[in-house]
Amino acid sequence: MSKDGSVGFLTTRLDTIVNWGRKNAIWPLPFGTSCCGIEMMATLCSDYDMSRFGAEVVRFSPRQSDLLIVAGIINLKMAPVLKTVYDQMSDPKFVMSFGACASSGGIFNVYSVLQGIDTMIPVDVYVPGCPPAPEGVLHALLRLQDMVAKGETHSQRALAAKRNSGKVLRTTSL
Ligand code: SF4
Repeated sequence: MSKDGSVGFLTTRLDTIVNWGRKNAIWPLPFGTSCCGIEMMATLCSDYDMSRFGAEVVRFSPRQSDLLIVAGIINLKMAPVLKTVYDQMSDPKFVMSFGACASSGGIFNVYSVLQGIDTMIPVDVYVPGCPPAPEGVLHALLRLQDMVAKGETHSQRALAAKRNSGKVLRTTSL
């Protein structure tokens, strides 16, 4: 009942309200391999306080996380491990490519380094820099939250496509 005494009701779509909750409760899985990993830790610490955005519950199990943060150099021997970790995460799942090395190989344009993780797994947000500043990471997180709320991430779009084709029956994946 509203202040003027009239009776009303709130309408929304289930996906909208689920995505609203989802964007405010992102659980990151850090995949830090080198110097960028240190900057990722700084972002989580109190000076920058990623918990302000509901994303401080870092988990080291892919089954408990929905945001894979890849921070650092991925060499070709490590690439299959990263792919396995990604595959083990439940849908919908999100990926942040943290720094030049994860996004493009950075200065390591050599045979043994993966030249961008997006050659192997879908990336939702890229954070530029070598290493990125924590402010840039927070900006990327806000951008990701916006995408999650609108259902624009790769994983959400793939789920929506499956749903529309009738391959999944549920309206959302909780
Ligand atoms: S982008 Fe720069 S800081 Fe990050 S892992 Fe590569 S060399 Fe290190």
